[in-house]
Amino acid sequence: MTEEFKIKAERYERIRNIFFLSDQIFLLLFLALLLFGGGNCLSLRCWGWVQNVCKANFWLSTALFVLIFEAAYLLFSLPYEYLKDYRVELKFDLTNQTAFGWLLDFVKSSLLSVLLLLAAFLFCYASMRYFGKLWFLAAGAGWIVLQIVLGMLFPVLILPLFYKSEELKEHPCKEELLKLIDKAGLKITGLYRLDMSEKTKKANAMLCGLGATRRVMLSDALLEYPPEEIVAIMAHEIGHYKGRHIWKLAALHTALILLGLFLISQVLWWYCGKFGLDFYEAGTLPVFVAAFSLWQLVVMPVTNGFSRKCESEADAFALRHADNLAFASALRRLAEENLAVMEVSRLVEIFLYSHPAIGKRIGMAENWKGNL
Ligand SMILES: [Zn+2]
Repeated sequence: MTEEFKIKAERYERIRNIFFLSDQIFLLLFLALLLFGGGNCLSLRCWGWVQNVCKANFWLSTALFVLIFEAAYLLFSLPYEYLKDYRVELKFDLTNQTAFGWLLDFVKSSLLSVLLLLAAFLFCYASMRYFGKLWFLAAGAGWIVLQIVLGMLFPVLILPLFYKSEELKEHPCKEELLKLIDKAGLKITGLYRLDMSEKTKKANAMLCGLGATRRVMLSDALLEYPPEEIVAIMAHEIGHYKGRHIWKLAALHTALILLGLFLISQVLWWYCGKFGLDFYEAGTLPVFVAAFSLWQLVVMPVTNGFSRKCESEADAFALRHADNLAFASALRRLAEENLAVMEVSRLVEIFLYSHPAIGKRIGMAENWKGNL
């Protein structure tokens, strides 16, 4: 990699890390405005108004308040997201989208998240109403069901909102990929080509869906790689399947969500006592979101650490079942396309990296002696 590439990748990395910090500050500012703005507690005044409008109907007032909260946040964050997700990618020549195309995707993903969050918060507050302090157990069960449903629907309903895909027909390594999948005992409905290059310069491969929707997706840019590199990347994806990583990660997330919701419950209980609210009133929403975001930050090193462990295992599987030098060169190509830095500080890796730094992965592949 050239010195010029290295400097550019380091600048990109620095900007993304700064944005990670500013994401937290940005959300904090928004919540502080709601909790302390307007002379008194702006959110509680708004909640009082919503209850009046909805004649204190639980479902209507909860849904309307959640929708107002989400709409306010989206409007508040639109310029910031445009800068972070579009202008930065454009500056580093990583996107193929127009500003209008980006805005269209932003609207689609915002509508999707508004609907999902509306359903999630309605479920949480309804659980508080019917189960009291044990609501977090019902909410945890709801979380598991949501993960399964989303996992099934992702490749057939959500991904098509953003990318076109079609079953891979002719490709020089299609047979070899299918053989590898079959040998691993992985049941899929097909190999798919994902048209990502009209939007991004980054390449990707994934095993997604559950049961009848499970499939392997390879981005069009990745399908241009030399066949032995595609096979090595596929072997990595199969490594995730063989290691049952999706289930292990889901179990870890569920345990952490349950613990998080239990702790949030204590905070909400205290807040309701202080401001004379019933436990299930959605007026606590900004406090709920603040506590949940803080919890996510606290557990980030744990989830990222476990994810890095899974990635290393999948790498080792790929190295055992494919050509190690082809895997190293595929990783190098991915690093170039994604403008990834070879090495990161240990602290940044612990907090922010779901994969080991790419330099480490390439080093492991190049020096592979089949000893793991
Ligand atoms: Zn992986």
